[in-house]
Formats: sequence, structure tokens, C-alpha cells
Amino acid sequence: MSAGQKLYEGKAKILYTTDDPQVLLAHFKDDATAFNAQKRGSIAGKGEMNCAISTHLFQLLEAEGISTHWINSPSANEMQVRTVKILPLEVVVRNIVAGSLSQQTGIPLGTVLTQPLVEFYYKNDALGDPLLTSDRLFLLKLATPAQVEQLRDAALKINQILSGFFEKCGITLVDFKLEFGVDAQNHLLLADEISPDTCRLWNQTDSDPNQRVMDKDRFRHDLGNVEAAYRQVLERVLAQSIQK
Ligand code: UDP
Repeated sequence: MSAGQKLYEGKAKILYTTDDPQVLLAHFKDDATAFNAQKRGSIAGKGEMNCAISTHLFQLLEAEGISTHWINSPSANEMQVRTVKILPLEVVVRNIVAGSLSQQTGIPLGTVLTQPLVEFYYKNDALGDPLLTSDRLFLLKLATPAQVEQLRDAALKINQILSGFFEKCGITLVDFKLEFGVDAQNHLLLADEISPDTCRLWNQTDSDPNQRVMDKDRFRHDLGNVEAAYRQVLERVLAQSIQK
């Protein structure tokens, strides 16, 4: 299946149409952005690494009964995905306090949450992706109440599966962001990607707060060795089979 028209170019991926309207081709880029694209750069090999990590994790989730947009990964940095209408929501799941949760609440970085926290952000660059209350989410008609319940359940199940998987990799899944879409049959599918760009991942063999970081925080905060950290995640993820 060949790539057709460029449909959309985002910060980390380009989406192309294909000859099947139900299928799109996602091309993963090396470009990296942070802080709502105020910081821009490139991470060598990121496109291929994130495509391979996402492919493995989507296959894992599918095997565990989660519906995703993933169909196939025909080349190193390309993924065939089901055409969906993306809900304008970023669903964030947190196991350990980091990033904006720490900054906005004062809870110290690294505090382990007694139960996972699910948050919804408005996917809107112009507004800076603000945190939503459920009333605001419904005010803006970003999802139906039934969809919100479905999203929360799916996010918690995905968290359980991914946390267990990363644990086997010697990596702690601190938090992550998910995006979902609705297909032509109105089914809710997990979309976008799951990678060190969208997850906070801490190496369990390192307690140093900077050394342990294996995700985009290395790029965000100029911690160095970004490519090596992503490669380490890739190697550990691929070393774990997706069988239950
Ligand atoms: N995240 C993301 N894209 C975004 C915002 C957040 O993938 O536009 C991920 C981020 O990598 C982290 C989690 O969502 O794993 C929670 O991010 P947080 O709200 O703490 O924001 P940040 O500190 O990244 O600004």
C-alpha cells in the first residue's frame, strides 16, 4: 500500500492517505519539540525507535484485548493505522508524581501515588493544552459521558498492562499520555503512539534523578544522551515477548 497525499503534519509524525480510505500511513519523524513547541530539535533515529517501540506496545495491548489503530508496520519508521477521528483530548495516567502535577500541586517529584491518577487535557496547542475539569470537558462537548467512562476504564487497563510490561524491562512507568479516536463504525480505538516521547520512564537500576530518566525529559531539560536513552528503552522493550 503506497503513501498518497499528506493529510496532516504534526510535531512528531506525518499522516498520509492510502488507496484505502479506512487506512492511513503514519511516518515517524526525528523532530522533537517540548514546552508547546517553544523548544525544537531533533533526536537522531527517534522516528525509527519510536515506531518500533509503539509497534511492540500496540501489539502487546491488542493481545491483551485493547483495540488500537495499529494495523501493520511496513517499514522502520512507518505504521499503517486505521483511519479515526481523533478526540481532542490528551488522556494522562500517572503512577508517580512528576512534571506538571508536581509543579501545579507542590507534591514532591517521585511521590508514589496510592492509586493511578487519570487526567484529561484539552488537545489545543493555541490554548496550551489546558487541564480540564469534567464540567469543562462536557461544556466543550469534547466527549460524551459514556465515552469519558470508556476512556477512563481503557486508560486504567492500559496502565496496568504497560506498567507490568515495563516492570519486566527494569523500567518504572511514571506517567504517560494517550490519544484515542473513533472509527467509521464509531468504535473507540487507542491511537497516536506510545513511546519515550509520550511516557516518563525511569531506569530502576539508577536512583540518581537525572541519570534514571529514559524519556523525552532528557531532551526537555538538556540532560544529554537522549538517543542512547531511547535506544536503551527500545532494546529492553524488544527483548520482552508480548506473550502473556
Ligand atoms: N505528554 C505528552 N504530550 C503532551 C503533554 C504531556 O506526551 O503534550 C506526556 C509527558 O511526556 C508525560 C505525561 O504526558 O509522560 C504527563 O505530562 P505532564 O502533564 O507532566 O506535562 P509536562 O511536564 O510534560 O509538561
